[in-house]
Amino acid sequence: MQAPSDHAEQLDPYSSGPIELQDDLEGDTLREECGVFGIFGHPEAAAITALGLHALQHRGQEACGIVTFDGSRFHSERRLGLVGDTFSRREVIERLPGSTAVGHVRYSTTGATILRNVQPLFAELNAGGFAVGHNGNLTNGLSLRRELVKNGAMMQSTTDTEVILHLVAQSKRGHFVDRFIEALRAIEGAYSLVALTNKKLVGARDPLGIRPLVLGDLDGRPILTSETCALDMIGAKYVRDIEPGEIIVFDEEGAHTHKPFPPKPARPCIFEYIYFSRPDSIVGGRSVYEVRKAFGAQLARENHPDIDVVVPVPDSGVPAAVGYSQYSGVPFELGIIRNHYVGRTFIQPTQSVRELGVRMKHSANRAAIEGKRILLIDDSLVRGTTSKKIVRMMRDAGALEVHFRLASPPILYPDYYGIDLPDRGGLLAATHTLEEMREIIGADSLAFLSIDGMYRAMGYPGGRDPANPKFADHCFTGAYPTHLTDHSEAEPQPRQLSLLAEAS
Ligand code: AMP
Repeated sequence: MQAPSDHAEQLDPYSSGPIELQDDLEGDTLREECGVFGIFGHPEAAAITALGLHALQHRGQEACGIVTFDGSRFHSERRLGLVGDTFSRREVIERLPGSTAVGHVRYSTTGATILRNVQPLFAELNAGGFAVGHNGNLTNGLSLRRELVKNGAMMQSTTDTEVILHLVAQSKRGHFVDRFIEALRAIEGAYSLVALTNKKLVGARDPLGIRPLVLGDLDGRPILTSETCALDMIGAKYVRDIEPGEIIVFDEEGAHTHKPFPPKPARPCIFEYIYFSRPDSIVGGRSVYEVRKAFGAQLARENHPDIDVVVPVPDSGVPAAVGYSQYSGVPFELGIIRNHYVGRTFIQPTQSVRELGVRMKHSANRAAIEGKRILLIDDSLVRGTTSKKIVRMMRDAGALEVHFRLASPPILYPDYYGIDLPDRGGLLAATHTLEEMREIIGADSLAFLSIDGMYRAMGYPGGRDPANPKFADHCFTGAYPTHLTDHSEAEPQPRQLSLLAEAS
């Protein structure tokens, strides 16, 4: 087997130069937000994968990559930047021949932005080439990595995903799928994987199904991807969700499913519904748009001040504001206009630049808010940067009163499964009371969706059952669904907030 023709290094116009040897192996784990795509047996595998990745761009805007196999060789293109910047070019797609492909979009916050971290990762194993793209974060990735390095492994990247390659390489089992399963037995945390060998396309979802992974069908060819919006983009049919703990393999003989883990109640990440997934996707059988509307309606049910208009913080607050307005009967107005040509706020690395980013991103629509008592809705509050700027902007544009509502509960704990959130010190709600937060953001009143209300909106009338919580909701409750091997120091308990009370 030959090594892939990887054009990343020599052709990348955004490359910051030679690979740095400094690393953060002893530091925080890498936090990544990602999307994956894979297709088997299609003559235009790379072009279709590029389109699929374009639909998943919201899941990661820092880097993207595609690896294909053409029957004798692997080919790889991995770049920093947006999918459209790289994969809309015909010559790039032409360098990716083959009928099987895997692709990845990525955004990470720690570790240098360097090409060797861009996925899909590729390794030459004794049984042949192996490429893998990963959405999620392992919670024992650092521990496994230290162990592997101690035993002589030479790591090429700083991603936790690379330990999977090494574990597969070191397995003594005969068949690829058995080696892959053995590797999965060693890892903990969240993973939705798409992998490629010279014979197979493989998909895998962690035993709790923390991150999403769906199966689609394009004219009889199987597709694996993070969200159904990628299937819609290419005109493929949704077939089903890959089940938690399922490993699915496609080769010339067809599809085979393996379920090597003891069954456990699933714990899909609730943040996919709140913020992360695209509203037109169906996640776990639920329309993300409808769920977000239900969160908004529930907010209105829980707490409804006297107001003239409901205004979303675009785009993330729009569905919840529609739901709030429909439930309460208060008119919905586009009081804030978003500039679509700036990246997501979080892409900016420092607080000062982040604040600048927020101002660049949103403008007040004076005609819709002047002289009115407005209720602003956003999906979540993290550092408070967005809300503070927006409240000031609304007052400057003549709003009489500005009430702020969040279509999720206060975020009190960090995430270790692939959502980019700061540690506790950076989470406004973990370090301030409701009244302090209201004062900081400068609103006339502030309220969050309650945890039970969030579950009611998801279709559980009894609210959250602590014995069977249904979702990975640790950001709000501290109930982490897996071992946190790399984060074993107990997180101090945050101050308890009165979640239902409105500060005014
Ligand atoms: P902040 O301004 O720090 O309070 O962040 C809240 C804003 O960031 C909201 O508008 C959210 O839509 C958005 N947001 C929430 N979680 C994330 C995330 N993990 N990555 C990027 N943006 C996020």
